[in-house]
Amino acid sequence: TASLVVIGAGIVGCSTTYHLAQKGWRDIVVIDQGPLFATGGSTSHAPGLVYQTNASKTLALLAKYTVELYNQLEVDGDPAFYQVGSLEVASTEARWQELHRKLGWAQSWGIEGASLVTPADTKAMVPLLDDSKILGALHVETDGIAKAVRAAEAMARFALNQKAAEFHGHTVVTDIEVVDGKVNAVVTNQGRIETEKVLVCAGIWGPRIGRMVGEVISLTPVQHQYVKTSPLAELAGTTEEVVHPILRHQDKSMYFRQHGDCYGIGSYQHEPLLVDPDDILSPEQAPVMPSVKEFTEEHFKPAWESTVELLPALKGADLSYKINGMFSFTPDSHSVIGESSKAKGFWVAEAVWVTQGGGVGKVVSELMTTGVPSLDLHEADIHRFPDVLKSRDYILRAGAQQYDEVYDIIHPLDQQTHSRELRVSPFYLREKELGAHCVFAAGWERPQWYESNANLLEKYDIPPRAGWEAHNWSPIQAAEHLATREAVGLYALTPFAKFEVTGSGVVDYLQSLCANNVDKPIGKVIYTAMLDPSGGIMCDLTVSRLAKDKYWVVTGGGVGAHDLAWMTQHLPTDGSVRITDVSSSYCCIGLWGPKAPAVLQSVTQTDVAKPAFKFFTCQSIRIGNIPALAVRVSYVGEAGWEIYAPTECGLKLWDTLYGAGQPYGLVPAGLGAFETLRLEKGFLLWGSDIHTEYDPYEAGIGFAVRPDKGEFIGKDALLQRQEYASRKLAYLTLDDPTAIVMGKEPIWADGKVLGYATSAGYGYSLGRCVVYAYLPLTYTVPGTTVEVRYFDKSYTATVVEKLL
Ligand code: FAD
Repeated sequence: TASLVVIGAGIVGCSTTYHLAQKGWRDIVVIDQGPLFATGGSTSHAPGLVYQTNASKTLALLAKYTVELYNQLEVDGDPAFYQVGSLEVASTEARWQELHRKLGWAQSWGIEGASLVTPADTKAMVPLLDDSKILGALHVETDGIAKAVRAAEAMARFALNQKAAEFHGHTVVTDIEVVDGKVNAVVTNQGRIETEKVLVCAGIWGPRIGRMVGEVISLTPVQHQYVKTSPLAELAGTTEEVVHPILRHQDKSMYFRQHGDCYGIGSYQHEPLLVDPDDILSPEQAPVMPSVKEFTEEHFKPAWESTVELLPALKGADLSYKINGMFSFTPDSHSVIGESSKAKGFWVAEAVWVTQGGGVGKVVSELMTTGVPSLDLHEADIHRFPDVLKSRDYILRAGAQQYDEVYDIIHPLDQQTHSRELRVSPFYLREKELGAHCVFAAGWERPQWYESNANLLEKYDIPPRAGWEAHNWSPIQAAEHLATREAVGLYALTPFAKFEVTGSGVVDYLQSLCANNVDKPIGKVIYTAMLDPSGGIMCDLTVSRLAKDKYWVVTGGGVGAHDLAWMTQHLPTDGSVRITDVSSSYCCIGLWGPKAPAVLQSVTQTDVAKPAFKFFTCQSIRIGNIPALAVRVSYVGEAGWEIYAPTECGLKLWDTLYGAGQPYGLVPAGLGAFETLRLEKGFLLWGSDIHTEYDPYEAGIGFAVRPDKGEFIGKDALLQRQEYASRKLAYLTLDDPTAIVMGKEPIWADGKVLGYATSAGYGYSLGRCVVYAYLPLTYTVPGTTVEVRYFDKSYTATVVEKLL
């Protein structure tokens, strides 16, 4: 028996075991089909470049911790990390700009030692390089090279020394037994181990292990080329493993590192070469190791040309080592972490780079020990992919796109071109007729703006945009914003996730999850957070009481699966509460603007005016022939409703409201307007402005917490946090009315970084760009000025009490 069986002794399995051992776990059994610790998995041949800076704060902070950890590890006196620093060169103006943006992320996330350097500085650090080919570089002093197998072995030794874990090489997991929905045993070719918990750290083999319990692990193995040169004259006599900073040439999808007197070259320049997990050979069958395929010369040829162009010193060198190694790509480049909903006790830590290996081990150990990771992990959540995105075809196409674009300059609103129109609302026909420009979100097509509103540009004077902030933007979305504030907008919101929660125990159940008091009269709508045990915001949603023992819980489409998993996990075991996902049964239209009440009144017999229909209440009404639930809430800060109706009535509902709205100046409006409208009113977006790292008080939604209502998850921790609060979400506006920032920018004052923009966007009614940021309390006083750095610019911003 074992308290936990870890499958895989690569960097992730060893790191998680190490952290669990530190937390006092014992009787862990770690199994690997290969030899220990060069197991033949991806870790065995990773050259170990660690670049901490990333657009994702979570990935960057996981990497930051990983560097701190690897820096302390060694095996028999040999270090697991060489902190030689990193360089990312720009050979185009666009890349040079991008490196400015990246420097901003490094500052936002607190990655130390980052600066932009000149071509001459770059050459001084890597003398092999032709500095006439570059415009400059981003230098990060704290990055470096991880010796991945050594780091894995050092962490395994710790767990062994603590007598916390056993490690078994040459042992293949062949099955996982599940009884009554719970893990019961792990079956191997050497025998069966009884356990209630298993952790899958099987890298590219992950999907095969997932299948053993019916869990889709959304990753695809991809081949990636890595070669080493023969010794270089310029490096003759070098005794150290690595002295030069690691080097990336992203304009050519390549990276480089020194190996003593040789150089290593990695290339993403070739087309994505996907591998089916079922086609990976066993350790016995594989000629080199299972995660290595035969080198394909034809794919490397252009990469070699790019290499000698940047590093002419490599010109005459031979290639002494050449592989197509394999590692995992997911549909969105984030890891897959969490407990499966298919089998209790089946934990997953997959698609993790060496770069984040230390940090992922830590947060997984926290999740498995207390349920509360020290970083928000929603980007890596195992539940984030809706079922429609779990097909093999989708995982392959999306994984291939991620590989292809791994070093590309990606705009936050860039869209995938594959696998479109997977989910469309019943209004889609009309949306297309109106020239909807759609974005892809959780499989849905979602209108960003409507070309049919181009005529509004004659009415509204929209300031023009250029450059980065003009990408994927149209002045029409600004016009839709203004038309909503002035008249009324019709928003397609079918992707909202809707859960019907029923049963005799429903009130107690929801009271134990929600921070707000939901034991309210029938017809009341309650805005609430659900907290994790540390008082962090796990979910942010509305709860409508439809009957004594029936509620509707509505949340964002992208977070629906996440929120459902949280709610399901806490269901009472006595069957007194039932959750039904009714998302597909109902469409939703948002009708908002000062004229919204008049529009709705013109198509219903129900008195929808106040006080008959108050804010934060809901009523079943008829709109023409259609039975609908009208919920009087607003995320855009104007009068109006979310209107839910049976999906099959959606088209009629749209036509009815659209037609009725024409005399009132109704326009269809997209997500672009939805976003800037909410920003102007101080409303928060889960995943950006709030998540588990923040609590409701610091986020400014303490009004929706009722500590006196009784116990709920996270209450005690929240009240303690409140006492020691040191930061608060502040609303800022940029002083220059023409300036625009996009989010994630560092906020500076008094020569230091105070925080980062959790959201940002232009407030078209306000006439200024709005920025949200958590700041130390002393900086949240209205009137305080700070600086927001955006690419190579710096804008002054002022903290305001209230936005619009
Ligand atoms: P692995 O190291 O693959 O470990 C999984 C283990 O599970 C294996 O040892 C395998 O034997 C075992 N296993 C699988 N199935 C079973 C079973 N049924 N029974 C028993 N055991 C099983 N990352 C970076 O951060 N920086 C880099 O510079 C870098 N360069 C790379 C270059 C190349 C050429 C490649 C291929 C990858 C590179 N990576 C890099 C990625 C990195 O190597 C991987 O993301 C990382 O090593 C994955 O670690 P892991 O522990 O999840 O997987």
